[in-house]
Amino acid sequence: MKLSKMHLKTLREAPNEAVLPSHILLLRSGMIRKLASGIYGYMHLGYRSIRKIEQIIREEMDGIGGQEILMSAVQPAELWQDSGRWFDYGPELWRVKDRKGADFCLGPTHEEVFTDIMRTDVTSHKQLPVSLYQIQTKYRDEVRPRFGLMRSREFIMKDAYSFDLDEEGLDKSYNDMYGAYDRIFTRCGLDFRPVEADNGAIGGSGSHEFTALSEYGESEIAYCTECDMAATVESADCVDDPASDEEMLAIEKVHTPGTKTIEEVADFLGLDKKQTIKALLFETYDELGQRNGFVAAFVRGDRDCNMIKLVNALDIPEHAIAFADEDAMSLATGCVGGFTGPVGLHDCKIVVDSELVGMKNLCAGACEVDHHMINVNYGRDYEGDIVADIKVLKEGDKCPCCGAPVKHTRGIEVGQVFKLGTKYSESMGAYYKDENQQTKPIVMGCYGIGVGRTMQAVVEQHHDDKGIIWPMSVAPYHVIVTIVKMNDEEQVSIAESIYERLQAAGVEVMLDDRKERAGVKFNDADLLGIPIRITVGRDAAQGSVEYKLRRDADSELIAIDEAVERAIKTVNEEK
Ligand code: ATP
Ligand code: MG
Repeated sequence: MKLSKMHLKTLREAPNEAVLPSHILLLRSGMIRKLASGIYGYMHLGYRSIRKIEQIIREEMDGIGGQEILMSAVQPAELWQDSGRWFDYGPELWRVKDRKGADFCLGPTHEEVFTDIMRTDVTSHKQLPVSLYQIQTKYRDEVRPRFGLMRSREFIMKDAYSFDLDEEGLDKSYNDMYGAYDRIFTRCGLDFRPVEADNGAIGGSGSHEFTALSEYGESEIAYCTECDMAATVESADCVDDPASDEEMLAIEKVHTPGTKTIEEVADFLGLDKKQTIKALLFETYDELGQRNGFVAAFVRGDRDCNMIKLVNALDIPEHAIAFADEDAMSLATGCVGGFTGPVGLHDCKIVVDSELVGMKNLCAGACEVDHHMINVNYGRDYEGDIVADIKVLKEGDKCPCCGAPVKHTRGIEVGQVFKLGTKYSESMGAYYKDENQQTKPIVMGCYGIGVGRTMQAVVEQHHDDKGIIWPMSVAPYHVIVTIVKMNDEEQVSIAESIYERLQAAGVEVMLDDRKERAGVKFNDADLLGIPIRITVGRDAAQGSVEYKLRRDADSELIAIDEAVERAIKTVNEEK
């Protein structure tokens, strides 16, 4: 490709809203283009990288027996009503109506559509197992679209679905997929880690996220300093502190003026935060968005409440809960802002963190202004409607597997694998008959990769202050040949012959033949991040050109033939 013919618009500065280095660089290099909040297009160079990533995914999916299909983004509401997700998916589901008023959505994912294929087509065990995938555009009306392709409202996803006879079959499909994901992200040049994850709105049992390590990532990961435990903080189990064997003391109300926070009350009474109970107040909503109840959650004063664990314990979707309007909750349940405790609350669901059950003589709000209770004990003074682990695993806490202290790090979730089990086959009726003519539900798994998010994660991990440094495997072009002086005919003809020789060898090459100053061309080449640059300048007449890898600081002056050979060799080794 000749740059003089390419539609390319690079920017000196990115718009203010771009804060992530990868977002800034993709915009500045003209690889992506914003159309509206969370809606992006891919320009020529960006789209070439996208297609390379898609191709890597395709090869690895085909390698484990996946069959590629392509379904529509437009999905009828009935399918989502069948699975129960028309409500559960919440406001992220992009709902549309046709001219007759019939409901549709723009698919955020395709479990319903793929399960529908199976429920219609499969009758016998002989038709299973099967694994289908597509690379297709998804829509999610995210509350806060941001970070460019990382969290957008329209994005390309590879989604795969496995259909097996039983759990054993699912385990094999899951492991095959896990292996393929490992290879895909390795081939894309990412530094990543698979971590245990929550199943979220998709449901099912067992899941891993593949996370590209990055300080700006939106996923927080807890990992063990001793064993190989790694999980998203949302899903990581916590180890309860051992139960106390203290004697229960008599419960007592004490005057604690103005002590609304855990710190204040602990200070005032001279207690450790571990001897207090923290209250969190919520309200829940029904399918019409009407408030249908209140929830009070209690954790030990030094702990934080984990919202994902809380909604899982309540068995409601994440969007069906929010912090309570305290006045309304106070009227209905007797809670008092800043002084709420489990004793004396009524007409609300009480969720108690499992650790509190074994703790003795704790301090909690008295549900009365400026008062707390001391010596509060589970079982004697209060009980929970639900007792569950609802706390956040913090840095320094014990590893749930081996007890060593855990650490936190951040990452970008580029892919996720789920064991769905029979959730969709049962809710939507996808059954087969086994050898004995017994009817059984198909056992499913689903597996997603964000293609654009992967591309941006690559840039996030591979750049410097001048621009992108593409790994060869996903670079838009392999080599850029830069002509220093366009009015020097010899330079032009040498550069053109290098360009042609490389093309003939199957190398993807750009020729910077624009009538621009050399400095501009070098800056653009660095910004675009093409892995190899061959510069044809004043030494070309003596048979030498400058050879430089984008990832290295220094260039070398070498013979033209050697530059061509080296480039071909490096491309073939790394592509
Ligand atoms: P997140 O927790 O980041 O919202 P998710 O768990 O909702 O992601 P999945 O439903 O597992 O995502 O979707 C599969 C993949 O699609 C994700 O691993 C991610 O790479 C990509 N993806 C999800 N949401 C977006 C988005 N809004 N923009 C770009 N890519 C996305
Ligand atoms: Mg996910």
